[in-house]
Amino acid sequence: MTEESVMSKTYDAIVIGAGPAGAATALLLQAKGYEVCVVERARFPRDKVCGEFISPAADPILEKLGVLSAIEAAHPIRLRGVAISAYEGEELAIDYPPHEGRAMTSLSLSRLSFDHILFSKMQERGIMILQEHQVDDLVFDAGVVTGITGRDAENKPFTLHARVVVDAGGRNAVSIRRMGLKRGPRLRRGKVALAAHWKNAKLPADYCYMHVSRPGYTGMAPVSDDTVNVVLVVDADRVKGEDINALYRKVVLGNARRREMLMDAEPAEGVRTVDSLAFDVAPLPCGGLVLVGDAMGFIDPFTGEGIYLGLRSAELAAATLDVALQRGDVSRWMLERYAIRRKQEFHKKFVLSRILQKLIYRRGPCRSVVGLLAENPTLAATLVGVIGDYIPAGRVVSVPFLLRLVSAWVRSPAGARSIKLSRHSTLDKRPLPEEG
Ligand SMILES: Cc1cc2nc3c(=O)[nH]c(=O)nc-3n(C[C@H](O)[C@H](O)[C@H](O)COP(=O)(O)OP(=O)(O)OC[C@H]3O[C@@H](n4cnc5c(N)ncnc54)[C@H](O)[C@@H]3O)c2cc1C
Repeated sequence: MTEESVMSKTYDAIVIGAGPAGAATALLLQAKGYEVCVVERARFPRDKVCGEFISPAADPILEKLGVLSAIEAAHPIRLRGVAISAYEGEELAIDYPPHEGRAMTSLSLSRLSFDHILFSKMQERGIMILQEHQVDDLVFDAGVVTGITGRDAENKPFTLHARVVVDAGGRNAVSIRRMGLKRGPRLRRGKVALAAHWKNAKLPADYCYMHVSRPGYTGMAPVSDDTVNVVLVVDADRVKGEDINALYRKVVLGNARRREMLMDAEPAEGVRTVDSLAFDVAPLPCGGLVLVGDAMGFIDPFTGEGIYLGLRSAELAAATLDVALQRGDVSRWMLERYAIRRKQEFHKKFVLSRILQKLIYRRGPCRSVVGLLAENPTLAATLVGVIGDYIPAGRVVSVPFLLRLVSAWVRSPAGARSIKLSRHSTLDKRPLPEEG
């Protein structure tokens, strides 16, 4: 196809960004018979700072997208659950509870591989992808988005038109900037994530290890047989004027448990940083446009579900867009259905993430809650299933659960006192009882 014909046609949908949310939306729309053009400013394969583990609930979506077998062929690590320690306390390892008779695991592999597998699937399906094309602005017609403008790798301007535009440009998506949609921050202080892959680390088992301590928290997980991803999140003030590599090393190895695991290990690359501040996005003021993935809002990575959220929001968006395109109605009111459905599905999960986010920065309550979870395996398993996105968040963000938490607290000899946890406690594997 000539460059002129690529640029002159009107696509059914333009997708800005080829990350997980953009790729999933493009694949789902193309599978429904729509002509899609993906516009991406980077050249793939491209890397991204991330905890790199993907909620157990993502498996069926990845299967539907036709990429699960390619992911398995890349030898990802299957994590059994989450191991958490609070302020130098011992680790509590919580396995994902089984679901519908199946053992549940989360996928852990590098974003370099994961995103490239999705990208390659788009290429295989013949989706038009313009790499090294930076989108700068949206094109409006009578208040409705009808296209995009931008610059290619040679700085040559381009304009593209479509019946609908999907912005999957991540946390700095062009639509957010163009329309001033960012709300928040919820947290007073900005956060920065510092990440590196380490070789020769000795993790005792295949868990995602979350260590909460001062001045921040780390998430560590194996992403291949000999590589562990170590992400540190600290207040933005903490890194000002510091040598990033030295600070990262000092803080990561400042925790006794991490030091033990990383004793013979070395970072295999320079530390990469990314700002990591949670934000919300205001409702869109126009038709012809939907936002998916991080462009729709970003929650703190502590509970690590951004990729699942991106994939699931792509599914919801594609379903609404299918109806809208069939009816020839891409009005704001029509497309708002997607945002409403997404909110209905994720609202309680976001509430939980905010509660956990507040909790982890308070030493006493954080240690006490980890203690409570150690003594209440069913509560712990429920929570991890919710974080894994396959137990509805309503099971946790609900009066019955909170009452159980309070009564467990009252009965617990630990109470608000510090308690001794058994390292890698063996948890109850019985199926979860239904909540009343
Ligand atoms: C420190 C940290 C740790 C995290 N850990 C986890 C974890 O363990 N598990 C998890 O599930 N989630 C995690 N997340 C969240 C996860 O990384 C995101 O939710 C996920 O990447 C969102 O995918 P996306 O497709 O919306 O955006 P992105 O992955 O950001 O992709 C956006 C794409 O759009 C392109 N783009 C942007 N603007 C333009 C433009 N103007 N023109 C053209 N192209 C553009 C970019 O180049 C990029 O390729 C973490 C996030 C952070 C910050």
